[in-house]
Amino acid sequence: MAIGTLQDAFIDELRDSYDSEKQLIKALKKMAKAAKDDDLRNAFETHLEETQGQVERLEQVFGLLDEKVKGKHCDGIAGIIEEGSSVMEEDFDDATMNACLIASGQRAEHYEMAAYGTLVAWARVLGHDDAADLLQQTLDEEKAADQKLSALAEGGINDDAAGPGTNDDDEMSEDEPPARSKPTKVATPRKSNGAPARTARARS
Ligand code: FE
Ligand code: ZN
Ligand code: FE
Repeated sequence: MAIGTLQDAFIDELRDSYDSEKQLIKALKKMAKAAKDDDLRNAFETHLEETQGQVERLEQVFGLLDEKVKGKHCDGIAGIIEEGSSVMEEDFDDATMNACLIASGQRAEHYEMAAYGTLVAWARVLGHDDAADLLQQTLDEEKAADQKLSALAEGGINDDAAGPGTNDDDEMSEDEPPARSKPTKVATPRKSNGAPARTARARS
């Protein structure tokens, strides 16, 4: 007979996130080192500090629930980090590497947002309101980190990676009559809630 409860699943997920944050501390250090842009490095370093706080916050949550502070290997974030490290080994130019680091970082943030969204909801439904408040603080930090990365991507890093002449309407081919310029791409309306960083931005 099955006897596991949502409370058990909740503790399991907390342990998964605890391990995930610890894996991310190592990964964020590497990503900060690999960044070729001061603002991007700064974003990773800032989120690294926040992540150390998130580990402590989870320790507080275990304390509130009278549970042992313990991690349980998170396969999901391990896979995301693994993909990120293979990208870091590629021989990309600096601007492309920055765009790729953002892409990897956002995969991690979205994974965490999913995990903490569930943890907050389960904490509430199980009546652990103090724990829910702490977990919500972390969820807010993950969302802000994701938005920061979108802002950096859309604020120039993607354009730099695309290179000069890309997405411009002033190129001329010698074989074609210069009468008409290429139609300008219509910019996709941007959502403010974590729109994908790779959305192309039409230049003005
Ligand atoms: Fe985190
Ligand atoms: Zn996990
Ligand atoms: Fe995070």
